[in-house]
Amino acid sequence: MKLKKHILIVEDNELNRAILHDILEDEYDVLEAENGQVALDILKEYKENISLILLDVMMPVMDGYTFLDRLKEEGELSLIPVIVMTQGDSEEDEISALSHGATDFVPKPYRPRVILHRAASLIKFRETAALINQFQYDQLTGLYSKEFFYRKVREKLEENPEKEYCIISTNVENFKLYNDAFGRRAGDLLLQEGARDIIKTVGNDSISGRYGADRFMVLAEKNWEEKELEFYFTDAVENRPEKLKNVILKWGVYEITDRTVPVDQMCDRALLAADSIKGKYNQHVAFYDDTLREKLLREKAITDIMDTALVEGQFIVYLQPKYDLKKDCMAGAEALVRWIHPEWGFMSPGEFIPLFEKNGFIPNLDQNIWRQVCAKIREWKKKGYPSLPVSVNVSRADVYQLDLEKVLVELTKEYGIHPSELHLEITESAYAEDPSRIIHTVNRLRDQGFIIEMDDFGSGYSSLNMLNQMRMDILKLDMMFIRNEMKKPMEQSILRYIIDMSHGLGLRVVAEGVETLEQLERLRAFGCDYIQGYYYAKPMPIAEYEELLKVAK
Ligand code: C2E
Ligand code: CA
Ligand code: CA
Repeated sequence: MKLKKHILIVEDNELNRAILHDILEDEYDVLEAENGQVALDILKEYKENISLILLDVMMPVMDGYTFLDRLKEEGELSLIPVIVMTQGDSEEDEISALSHGATDFVPKPYRPRVILHRAASLIKFRETAALINQFQYDQLTGLYSKEFFYRKVREKLEENPEKEYCIISTNVENFKLYNDAFGRRAGDLLLQEGARDIIKTVGNDSISGRYGADRFMVLAEKNWEEKELEFYFTDAVENRPEKLKNVILKWGVYEITDRTVPVDQMCDRALLAADSIKGKYNQHVAFYDDTLREKLLREKAITDIMDTALVEGQFIVYLQPKYDLKKDCMAGAEALVRWIHPEWGFMSPGEFIPLFEKNGFIPNLDQNIWRQVCAKIREWKKKGYPSLPVSVNVSRADVYQLDLEKVLVELTKEYGIHPSELHLEITESAYAEDPSRIIHTVNRLRDQGFIIEMDDFGSGYSSLNMLNQMRMDILKLDMMFIRNEMKKPMEQSILRYIIDMSHGLGLRVVAEGVETLEQLERLRAFGCDYIQGYYYAKPMPIAEYEELLKVAK
């Protein structure tokens, strides 16, 4: 059975209502109201399920025109078509009905076929309009929907062959977090605001679409320089209200150089550009170019094979010895991963670690590396080699994604080694991200007996506060620190100060990236405890390190 559509008759005269009811009831489900107030109540109950309203103008309590005025304020409900029933053929009545927002009118007395015909065509018209509307516009933001955006872009490009355009895509970086914290409604408002921001930024002559949950797409004329755009976006981000500070908008720009590329691909390129700066603290806009394309293809290829590579044992450990400046002897080593791929050959971590940190693979790789290291330490113990610690790298993602304490305790137990034989190098930026989390994790690990080295100190988000707040064992000075700071007297005194302060806090200090004798001597003079760097030894295969270990003191 087909469900009948609802028609609402608003008319004070009982007899007239009955006549209309008769005319309509075969085709429609008829609701009746004897005045405007009752009609509004019914509307609030049935909402958009009412397809049409037939309205008398002369009524007590609330007349037809007042009703029309009230209806206009009802948002969605104001879109329901209204046929006003006028007395005779009074032109005046017709005009005032239309000016109050009626869709159409029919004169009394009623002619059944005219009424049925008008009702049917108005309902149909409205449904079609709603459909087109829904298809063209995103309900939430009022921007074009994806498909319609494509079409509009094509039209615009064809109409303006002489102008230069670009596609700008945006991505709201922490949108999910925001939704969780403040609720869906707040998330919706944020997106609406984002949509308005975009229109403000790129001007009215542009075309904007909503592309997915938290993505927008804009076609804009290219009448700015890259620098300007960068400035504009950065500015827009920095001036957001406090609550939105954690919500980061990333913008990707594809300059349309080849108009034969399908529009959806143009959009993909803008998206790729936006995604390429995901998670980068201070970059808000990126431009698509061929290098980016190649980089992304390469990343995709790596992502496709990384699991297999791990299973097949393509990730191997190199060891770089550390040197004890006080005792003049080898002090252990840092484990650094290398990827030996059957076709691509030897790869340095710089080529894949940042990607693995982005795509979530790093905890898998790291656990594998830790296991290899533990296995070696057990083997050396069995062989009676000197017991020197090995440091492994612990990535930020490991801290956030793993139960580090459990994983590492179980691992050392499994291989029968003491936690202090494993040093954990945790990068300083982990502290910048979520101090309380990292402080908590580090405390638990230290309680278990692991030795904590703060890696890359001085590379970026250094905070001297960190040294007070977090218990650790060893401070590892970043390479750039050694390189830049050691040249000028002023910087030398900073270096000396940090080493002294660390000692005051009971920390030992390692300097990494030491490449010259001069650097080594200065560090020794400043009281630095250990060095690591090409001057003493490069990262080497395990077998080579074993030769050094055998004869170590
Ligand atoms: P890092 O932890 O700061 O490691 C030190 C890097 O400096 C290593 O680069 C090492 O080969 C290099 N290096 C050592 N001495 C010198 C020197 O005197 N001069 C110069 N120019 N470089 C020196 P590598 O092996 O390419 O590793 C790069 C980064 O990749 C590491 O930086 C670390 O952050 C990451 N990484 C390496 N292995 C692993 C791993 O197993 N897990 C994780 N999560 N990250 C790793
Ligand atoms: Ca390290
Ligand atoms: Ca480092």
